Amino acid sequence: MKVEGTDVAQEVSTGTLPGWDRVEHLVTDAHDRFRDDADGEVADYIPVLAEADPGWFGVCVAESGGDVHVAGDTDVEFSVQSISKAFVYALVCQAFGHEGVLERIGVNNTGLPFSSVMAVELNSGHPMNPMVNAGAIATTAMMPGSTSAEQWENVRRGLSAFAGRPLELDRAVYRSESGTNMRNKAIARLLESYGRLPVDPLEAVDVYTRQCALRVDARDLAVMGATLADGGVNPVTGECIVSAQVCRDTLAVLASTGMYERSGEWLFEIGLPAKSGVSGGIVAVAPGKGAIGTFSPPLDDAGNSVRGQRATAYLSRALGLNVFASAARVPRRGADHQVSRHGTGTA
Ligand code: GLU
Repeated sequence: MKVEGTDVAQEVSTGTLPGWDRVEHLVTDAHDRFRDDADGEVADYIPVLAEADPGWFGVCVAESGGDVHVAGDTDVEFSVQSISKAFVYALVCQAFGHEGVLERIGVNNTGLPFSSVMAVELNSGHPMNPMVNAGAIATTAMMPGSTSAEQWENVRRGLSAFAGRPLELDRAVYRSESGTNMRNKAIARLLESYGRLPVDPLEAVDVYTRQCALRVDARDLAVMGATLADGGVNPVTGECIVSAQVCRDTLAVLASTGMYERSGEWLFEIGLPAKSGVSGGIVAVAPGKGAIGTFSPPLDDAGNSVRGQRATAYLSRALGLNVFASAARVPRRGADHQVSRHGTGTA
C-alpha cells in the first residue's frame, strides 16, 4: 500500500564523523579488541567456503568524504555472497524505480531463514524480501540485459563500480556452489510456477550464483557501503552509481532485513542498516557519514560473522553512528522522570 504524504521534496539531515585521527584509532582498537575471539563456525554448506582460515579478521571504515581506515586482514579476498543482494537490488531499483521494485519484489522481512521455500509458499509466490534467496533471485532476474550473459556482465560492472575497482569471479566458489545449489534451483522453479520470474529460472540462478561468487575484500565492502551513504556517489572514485533515492530505498530494506533472522536485534543493538554474507563479510552503513566493512569467517547460528558483529557494534557506538540515537538539547528540568511498575509516569 502506498503511504500518503511522500510527495514533498526530501531534505537531508545527518551528522559528521569524529576527526581522522580518532576514526583511525578506533578502527585499530576495534580490531585489537576482538581479534582473539574464537566463537562461531565457518560455513561449509558451500563446500569450498570451509577452507577459509577462521583467524582472518579485517576491519575498515570508509568515510563519505573518501578517507579510508583499515586494520587487520582488509586485503584478503573472499566471495561476497549475500552482500551482493544489497547492491544488485540498488541497481535494479535504479533501472525500474521505487514503485516497480516494490510491486515486483516487496520489502518485508519473511522472518524465515534465507533459503526458505516456505516463505514463498506462504505469500502465494510473492518473494517479499530481496535480501533472502527467493527475493534475491527474483531481483537478479530483473537486471537489465537481453541475455543472461548480459545480465551477468551488468551485475559484475555494477558491483565493480560500487567498489571502485574491477571485481572478478571466484571460479572455485562458483563451481562449488553451482554443484550444490539444488535448493536455489527449486526456489526459482517455484517462483516460475507462480509467474514471478521474467526469465529462465535456471539462468536466473546461474547469474545469482555468479554474483555471490564475486571476490571482494573488507575495504571493498566499506567503499561499496560508503557509496550508499553518500547519495550514490562512490566517495573514492567520484563516480555516480545510483540515485540518492535508490540509496534510501536500499538502506530501508537493509535495516529491516539485512541480518537474516537477527535483523530486529541488530537494529535494536547497533542501529545501522547492514548486510551480511555466509563467507563472513558484513557491511554497515551510516547515511551521510560512511560505512564499516568487516570480514571474519566464523559465523553465529543465524549466519552472521561473530567478530564482524562485535567490531561493528563497537564502532557504531564509539563513532556515534546509531541512526536512532539522540542527545537532549533542552536542559533537563526538575527531578528525573520515573516509570512505575504499572507503567504510569511520575515526575
Ligand atoms: N550464495 C549463497 C546462497 O545462495 C548466499 C547465502 C548468504 O550469504 O546468505 O546460499
